[in-house]
Amino acid sequence: MQHREFPFKEYKQHFRMLDVADTLLDLDRTDSTGAFFFCPFHVDGENGNLHVHDAEDHIKCFSPCQFEGGDIFDLLTAYFNFDPDTAHYDCARYLDGGHLLQAAWQLSNDDLARVLRNDFKTACVKKSATRVIRPKEFIIKPPHDFKQLRVYEANLEQYGVDYWLGRGLTYETMRHFHLGYDTETHRHVIPNCNHVGVYGFKRRRDDEWARADLRQRGMAWLNDMKNGIWLRRLERSEKTGLEPAPPTDDDVFKKVYPKFIWGRAQEDTMWLFNEDRLLNGKLLYVFLTSAEVDTITLEQAGYPSVAWASDAQFPDQQDIIYYTFQGKSIKLHIRDVFRNVRQIYIVADNDESGLAAAHRRCAALGRNSEIVSTPTEKDVNDYCRQHAIADWLPHVPPALWSKPAYA
Ligand SMILES: [Zn+2]
Repeated sequence: MQHREFPFKEYKQHFRMLDVADTLLDLDRTDSTGAFFFCPFHVDGENGNLHVHDAEDHIKCFSPCQFEGGDIFDLLTAYFNFDPDTAHYDCARYLDGGHLLQAAWQLSNDDLARVLRNDFKTACVKKSATRVIRPKEFIIKPPHDFKQLRVYEANLEQYGVDYWLGRGLTYETMRHFHLGYDTETHRHVIPNCNHVGVYGFKRRRDDEWARADLRQRGMAWLNDMKNGIWLRRLERSEKTGLEPAPPTDDDVFKKVYPKFIWGRAQEDTMWLFNEDRLLNGKLLYVFLTSAEVDTITLEQAGYPSVAWASDAQFPDQQDIIYYTFQGKSIKLHIRDVFRNVRQIYIVADNDESGLAAAHRRCAALGRNSEIVSTPTEKDVNDYCRQHAIADWLPHVPPALWSKPAYA
């Protein structure tokens, strides 16, 4: 048989990752980007962490995991543990009994059977209708005025200052970003606001309060919670065949006191944090981070920065943003939002999922964007507490030395 190129492209055009994953895996939940499945390559806990990005037809596990992610061939090969040398034939057999392969290579039935080693009856993925990527729509309108922000802000003095000082922020920076404290949920509050209004409140766990609260609930309660988690893990392990890990105190802590919560359902609008930075004339550069604290840290050091805190919800290039202010609504794309900026530095967290997310942002923002990450430490705020930002960015001089009166 002469050498022919395997029709990878044809297969990927015909079979969507979402459909293929659906035949193999347990679905946990869907979101605007695709779906999360329970990962068969490690023991997932309460939530499925294996994410299918539908528009990119890509799968990736957001937990530390042996599976590196990839396309439908990568998924099938890993799932069935196919021999890497012949995996593409095995994948073709699984996907459509080698139908596309037969057409591409113009094989007789006998030849196809030989190629697939006589076994081509296991096809089981239905081809779904041809995919049309429709742009998503974002309605950007602040759901809150400044009243609640002021209430939280007034609590800063009593409850919040020490925490933020410990993270390297100055008092002036805290005031500038209207940081506060929610005495109801016992959380530090970072409001996402601009001159138009408040888009949402991110609430960060007050570790000290949460630890004390956990102790106060007592051992019986703690053991009860552990039992609950253990049962769920056993259930999962029956499906995955992987050894369940016994729950720890820390597992309970993380479950009961999640590190971050946003406003109650539908109360918040996901939008660019510190957006006002982009509205005051031309900028030579701006840093785009995925955490408010990183942006605040950069701003304090004199580097203009904005944050988009949800990797999953970052707009794609074609998505439509309806930006609403003063009763008007204008239609934008994400690139328009950055139109006054010459260069965008996309800050990636120093881990694999951070890098993957940064690449998606880079694709959405186009040619004047570049990915950077700190040489050590996981994120900018961590880095900044050990090193000077200038050590990391010698070629990018701070641009706000004279600007932020608060820094
Ligand atoms: Zn995994």
